[in-house]
Amino acid sequence: MDFLAGLNPSQRAAVEQTQGPVMIVAGAGSGKTRVITYRVAHLIQKGVDPFNILVLTFTNKAAKEMRERIMKVVGQEAKNIWMGTFHSVFARILRVEAELIGYPRNFTIYDTDDTKSLLRAILKELNLDDKLYNVNHVYGRISSAKNNLISPQEYNKNEAIMAEDIANGRGQLGQIYMTYAQRCYRAGAMDFDDLLFKTNVLLNKHPDVLYKYQHQFKYLMVDEYQDTNFSQYLIVKRLAAVNENICVVGDDAQSIYAFRGANIQNILNFQKDYPDVKVYKLEQNYRSTKMIVNAANSIIANNKNQLEKNVFSDNEDGEKIKVTRAFSDNEEGKIVAEAILQEKSLKTLNFKDFAILYRTNAQSRSMEEALRKLGVPYKLYGGTSFYQRKEIKDLIGYFRLTFNPNDEEALKRVINYPRRGIGDTTVDRIMVAADQNQLRLWDVVANAQMFLDGRSAGSVTNFGIMIQSFQAMAKTNTAFDTAMYIAQHSGILKDLYEDKSVEGLARYENIQELLNGIKEFSEREDLEEKGLDVFMQDIALLTNDDNDKDPNADTVSLMTIHASKGLEFPVVFIVGLEENLFPSQLSLNSRSELEEERRLFYVAVTRAEKKLHLSYATSRYRWGTLNNCEPSRFLDELNPSCLDLDFKPRSSAVGSEDFQSERVSWQRKETGDVFSKPKPKVVKTTSILPKAHKPTEGFAPSDTSNLQVGMEVEHERFGFGKVINLEGNKPDIKATIFFKELGQKQLLLKFAKLRIV
Ligand code: ATP
Ligand code: MG
Repeated sequence: MDFLAGLNPSQRAAVEQTQGPVMIVAGAGSGKTRVITYRVAHLIQKGVDPFNILVLTFTNKAAKEMRERIMKVVGQEAKNIWMGTFHSVFARILRVEAELIGYPRNFTIYDTDDTKSLLRAILKELNLDDKLYNVNHVYGRISSAKNNLISPQEYNKNEAIMAEDIANGRGQLGQIYMTYAQRCYRAGAMDFDDLLFKTNVLLNKHPDVLYKYQHQFKYLMVDEYQDTNFSQYLIVKRLAAVNENICVVGDDAQSIYAFRGANIQNILNFQKDYPDVKVYKLEQNYRSTKMIVNAANSIIANNKNQLEKNVFSDNEDGEKIKVTRAFSDNEEGKIVAEAILQEKSLKTLNFKDFAILYRTNAQSRSMEEALRKLGVPYKLYGGTSFYQRKEIKDLIGYFRLTFNPNDEEALKRVINYPRRGIGDTTVDRIMVAADQNQLRLWDVVANAQMFLDGRSAGSVTNFGIMIQSFQAMAKTNTAFDTAMYIAQHSGILKDLYEDKSVEGLARYENIQELLNGIKEFSEREDLEEKGLDVFMQDIALLTNDDNDKDPNADTVSLMTIHASKGLEFPVVFIVGLEENLFPSQLSLNSRSELEEERRLFYVAVTRAEKKLHLSYATSRYRWGTLNNCEPSRFLDELNPSCLDLDFKPRSSAVGSEDFQSERVSWQRKETGDVFSKPKPKVVKTTSILPKAHKPTEGFAPSDTSNLQVGMEVEHERFGFGKVINLEGNKPDIKATIFFKELGQKQLLLKFAKLRIV
């Protein structure tokens, strides 16, 4: 059977174009991920060795699903494809090559908690105010330096960066970064950003290694390319430099990780990097109804920064988008839960056909509560990972120390847990001794008699001996036997067993679950190496979604919009559409941040296949206080003909787009909580949005204070037109302009981006 028959002509052409650079920039649901999946299957069918194919996806889950689909076409061979997230793939490569750049092969991956704990310790040592040097801020700054491949040395030498830090009163950031990097190195640890940063170092400093992987990965594919950062971009570019068989797919309208350093320019530059790139257009959305595609188009049209795209759907028209107003976040939860039950029975759907998406994790609480009350089964994605629970991290801390005794965060975590008489003072002494003697913490622990006195030396020595016994055990035993031994001899099992509280019991059960998982791993037949070190390798990269015991369970999915990227569900609820929540308060200061929020809304809307529900609450508890909320501006931006409001707007919309913000704020003041009828949008009745006006080159709004009736003007977005009326007094003059493309519009001059032609 010709499996490529499942593709439209452009998709098929992109799949069959296996040689040379290929780029697909296309709207949501147009089959980009499907093209990658089919392309890989096609390559293997043509005889390409799966070991020579590298596919980079955004989540582990996406990689897993893709592999399963490919397996259906090419069979077990699909197991050998190199496929996963940037972090997991390059962690795997670093495991092999780490020694070349001075790290042990068993290097630890510091997760966010480890990083923050280390940063807090450094701030304390440097006597810095942790309000000014907020740990999240410091982390963000270091992370962004790494993602832009700025080493600590370069950071400290860079005058512009240093000047910026000093101007912000944070002149010590360079020093913190330097110390942090040294500590990680001393501990044989890499943080998440290091996995990419160090891969670049490796490929840069070791041409032989670069050569090896350039020849290994004959075919490269990257999904969600719009969300790659500079560090990722450069890895891909280096690896693809020999064969240039690289295919990237993405959608600039779905770029939602700029706050983490993703750079949309990577898409725009692709054509510059590979001048002979073959570009394919995919315009048909196969996922959603016309109604949903139409609504999505009307949202994204509000962004100025975007590549021009047509997205249309040939699917059914579909139902209108239901917009619901609730009085509180709890009521919103109740409305959503009831709607799920109702729609499920009405349309004979399953629970797994529903998803609830929100802007911030905190919003899950009211949803969860309501779902529980009505007995609706659900699964929370992206919540605290199983591996992030305290008791699990404690036991894993021992595992980490067993394979990498230099892992200082693990050492600090377990040296006195369960209690063994090694107090904070002793730990401080160990750290001071290490610093003074240029040693690692473990060197001090293993030689405690030399650095500590009396009783504390004894307890620390015993701890060191215990860890060494774990190491000996691990050398010759299976993962499970080693893990069990450590759980018992570290005292963790006993400590948890003795805690008879409900929480204590749950913790004990979690440890058992971890041990069960390790047992299963020990018994796997497809693996040659089954040591605990192998099990442990990339645990820090796992999220709770990867621990999904039963991915086919019939449950409603709850997740943030960020986590929903690339996914699709028949029915989607987007909740909490309120100003200061979505768009987030933090995004209101700049156009670029607001546009990123809008792209996030676009991502959310385009997850829905058949039916979309939007809701907002007029009051909500945030940070412990009850706040009144206004409906999100994004509701106003939706094409009103797509909407089904559950309440009557109190006044009809007047005026034009440029009046919109003014009108809404006025109305909100007067009526409190009314979500006004959305404005008439610049959207025709077909599902395809008219092409936005492209301003003439060098367009700059000119002074319109002397504008007169009859003058010809150009508006940045509405195009060319003629002034037919002026009314009101400065500075609130309203102009009525007849635009060639769009007809008559009223604009408030002080806001209108107009040029007199
Ligand atoms: P996103 O931008 O959200 O990541 P995408 O462009 O990657 O979306 P896919 O997830 O690949 O889109 O496809 C969306 C849906 O449309 C999937 O269910 C896919 O199977 C289906 N689809 C894509 N192309 C076709 C086609 N030619 N025929 C039938 N179904 C298709
Ligand atoms: Mg996709």
